[in-house]
Parts: sequence; C-alpha cells; structure tokens
Amino acid sequence: MGKILIRGAKPLGGEPQDVLIDGETIAAVGSGLEAGDATVVEAEGQILLPGLVDLHTHLREPGREDSETVLTGTRAAAVGGYTAVHAMANTFPVADTAGVVEQVWRLGKEHGYCDVQPVGAVTVGLEGKKLAELGAMADSAAAVRVFSDDGKCVDDAVIMRRALEYVKAFGGVVAQHAQEPRLTEGAQMNEGAVSGELGLTGWPSVAEESVIARDVMLAAHVGSRVHICHLSTAGSVEIVRWAKSKGWDVTAEVTPHHLLLTDELVRTYNPVYKVNPPLRTEADVMALREALADGTIDCVATDHAPHPREDKDCEWAAAAMGMVGLETALSVVQHTMVDTGLLDWAGVADRMSLRPAVIGRLAGHGRPVSAGEPANLTLVDPAYRGVVNPAAFASRSRNTPYEGRELPGRVNATFLRGKATVLDGKLT
Ligand SMILES: [Zn+2]
Repeated sequence: MGKILIRGAKPLGGEPQDVLIDGETIAAVGSGLEAGDATVVEAEGQILLPGLVDLHTHLREPGREDSETVLTGTRAAAVGGYTAVHAMANTFPVADTAGVVEQVWRLGKEHGYCDVQPVGAVTVGLEGKKLAELGAMADSAAAVRVFSDDGKCVDDAVIMRRALEYVKAFGGVVAQHAQEPRLTEGAQMNEGAVSGELGLTGWPSVAEESVIARDVMLAAHVGSRVHICHLSTAGSVEIVRWAKSKGWDVTAEVTPHHLLLTDELVRTYNPVYKVNPPLRTEADVMALREALADGTIDCVATDHAPHPREDKDCEWAAAAMGMVGLETALSVVQHTMVDTGLLDWAGVADRMSLRPAVIGRLAGHGRPVSAGEPANLTLVDPAYRGVVNPAAFASRSRNTPYEGRELPGRVNATFLRGKATVLDGKLT
C-alpha cells in the first residue's frame, strides 16, 4: 500500500493542513508537506473528520439479503463517510450466538469497505425470555461489547437487570430499544394532534420515556452501563439529562431523521415516513437538537433500516417501519446542526465518531487526526449542494424520506486504514 497526501483540508474544521498517510497510518500532519511519491488528493475547502462510526445499523444479513447484505450495507456506509458500523442483531437467524456474530464480523472483514462490529442479542431469539450467550459472544473473535434486542424492547425488568449485571464483567453495554409493548399495541404514529385528526392509533411518548426511566435507574442500581437507542421525545431527553446529573453511566443516541422530520409528514400517508420510534413533533425535534448540542445526547446513530419495495409500497398500516440512513446521515447533521450554528465540525467529529467509538469500545476508531493514529478518515465538502437521488444509492434498498430534497454536504473520500474506499464521491 502506498502513500497518500491529502492537501489543504481542514481537520475538524480548523486551519488547513496537509495530512500524509503511509500504509495504514497517519504519518504526518502539517503545512507544506512534501508529496514525494505519494498520491495527492487536493482538498482545499474540505473538512477532514475521523472516519464516522455508527452504533446502530441494520445490515440484514443473514436472512434478509433482499433488503441489504453486509457487502451492500458496508458500501453504503463507506459512501456515507463511515469506517465502522455496529450491525444490529435482529437478523435471521438472530445474532444470539458466537457463531452468528463471527459470521457477520468475518463478512465485513472480507469485503473491506467498513469495519463491521456485530451487536449481540440480549435474549435468545429476541424473545425477551432467556439471556443469550453474552459471555460467549464477548469472548468470540467478534469481541462483542454492545448487546441489544433492537426492534424489540427488553421489556422484563428482571431480564434487563441480569443483562446489565452480566455485561459488567467485560465492559459491555446494553443498548435498549425503549418501547413499552402494551402501550404501543397496534400503534401507527406519534400520539398527538395529528394522530387524532388522521384517526391512526397513537404511540405515546410515555411508552418510550417510562422504559428509559426504569432502565437508567436499573443501571444505577447494579452499577452498570446502559445506552438508550434512538431517543425521540423531549421527555426522554429530560430523563437522560437527570440520569447524567446523578453521575450514572448512561449514554444515548439520536437518529438523523428525528433531528429533522415531524409527524406532520404522516398526513401524506406515505409509508416512507413510517418508522420506529415514530416521527414526533417540532418541539421534540428542537429538544433533540439542543440535547445533541449540549452533549446530553452523546451521538448520532443512523438506525439504517433497509426494506425492499414491496414492504414499503403499500398502505400505511401494512408497511414495515424504518428508513435507510447511512448515505444521508452526515448531510442531515450538517443541515440541522452545523448550518444552524448548534454544532461545529469538531462537535460533529465528537458526536459521529469519537463518542460512538467509546460507547462501543471500538479500538482504532474515533481517534484524533494526528500522526501515529490509524488512517480512518472522512473528507467532506460542506459547500456541496445536491438533491437526494435514491436510484444512486449503494444500499440495496431505496426507502429514504429525503428523495428529491436538497441537502448540503458530500463525502468526497473515505479512508479505511489508509485504503480509499471512496474517492471523488465514488466507491473505489
Ligand atoms: Zn430500535
């Protein structure tokens, strides 16, 4: 592997610098670096970030290769500027054994577009009844540290308590999909004024908030670490803020779509806006942005949820929940957080790379842009303006809520340990 000189980019949005990559490592950062025999990437006006890390990706393999595979999902991740993704466990079979997590981890390694860190299921078959082999998954080649029944809530308080106690032994974390099942039976959208008008079954905020309140208290009680997936309400923010003020080991994520879209869009009855947790109100969106800015919410996670056309092109009630997000996440964050003045690029690096890597205990990612560090890097053109065109996605699925919408910014290059996975905005 040769040398690459990234010339004139702004690391974390700071002063322009040259960055020399030698093999898998950043060899030097400075001004006026000699190119020598290196391949030069001209990057004037562009922002250089540590490679993005996603804590919440659905790659669908094994079992639903009609919607995504590890290959297509990691290609989509690279296009979006990601160098590591955590692959959720709700596959077929479920990733609840060392065998399945190692298979997913190996596929990521073989394809080489993005590191794939499997998430292990908390309970066998995501059934919420019996703890899965957490220790065996932690000890496997995949070295699982994040456990989640995502898609389903770990509803039973005793099971949740045992999982929290168990993962302490190896520095793991339980990532909770907070959804009280009885309060959301048949729920179709956020419970509020719009659901009342449309006559659709509501999904109340309290269904999310009550589980978060219970779990931050459980985590504190047993002295363990809990992560809350996809916060969607202003009340959830308040609970996490309170838990952190107590010094409890609680972290939380927000999705790009919950930073931008509201339940008003459900008036279109277009199932592309159907998602779990549901799109909420403008007040919730603003509270989430503020919480991401002040650090109450630790990170942005995509909840990239690919679905084939037939699962989305149907009436609202029958449609699957979820939207793809890897290829638009950074643009949505620029639009909602950077261009609004809420977060600078150093803040973006923190919320989309550093903190998710720390929460996932992922070595070699979320590192500073400095000499001696692994060359996991993302080069962004913040001045770019383009219209989202799902037909051009690297993902196998097209269920984006942003089709035809103009969003700022583009990932021009992604480097995974010194190897360009994306150059000039295109997969290599
Ligand atoms: Zn979820």
